Amino acid sequence: MVTFKYFDDPMKFSYLTEGEVACSICGSVEVCFDGGGFYGDRKIEAICPNCLKEGKLIDLEISTNEVTVPDLAEQLGSKELAQELTVIIEHCTPPLPTWQDKEWPFKDGDFCKFIKIASQSDFSNPEELFDAIDESLRFDHSATAFWEMLPEAEITCIEDGNYDTSFYLFMAGRNKIVTWDCN
Ligand SMILES: [Zn+2]
Repeated sequence: MVTFKYFDDPMKFSYLTEGEVACSICGSVEVCFDGGGFYGDRKIEAICPNCLKEGKLIDLEISTNEVTVPDLAEQLGSKELAQELTVIIEHCTPPLPTWQDKEWPFKDGDFCKFIKIASQSDFSNPEELFDAIDESLRFDHSATAFWEMLPEAEITCIEDGNYDTSFYLFMAGRNKIVTWDCN
């Protein structure tokens, strides 16, 4: 089983091909990541977990996610490290199952690890959810307002998470970080 540092459970929370297909890069027949939502001028249908992790999208200039942290090199204290981590997120990590942009959150000196599409069962109360949402993403919503937007039923895989408003749960060390968007 291929694991990804910044994506906890891609087999449950990333868009996969329906059943086994041939990887567009290496030809291996297995359940692959669906290339339909990738960014770039070149299109591929599918990529196997191994090829994604090994960076086979880099030379094809195809990306899966976006890094938009303006002062990343400054925050990390290194241009090289910023470049290295950006490549990992943008080309070697499964795509976030978001409605809108696939911007990856960065907190306390590292990128956050994506855990799942969230529902009320992932938080003990509205305040915990509210605290996990960065101020820039609150848009004057109250804790209660966010809680009412958060799906009630447990979400165990991407098929469960098909709501018009989605909340994305990440971990930054032991802290929960949440982003959200709408269809
Ligand atoms: Zn492959």
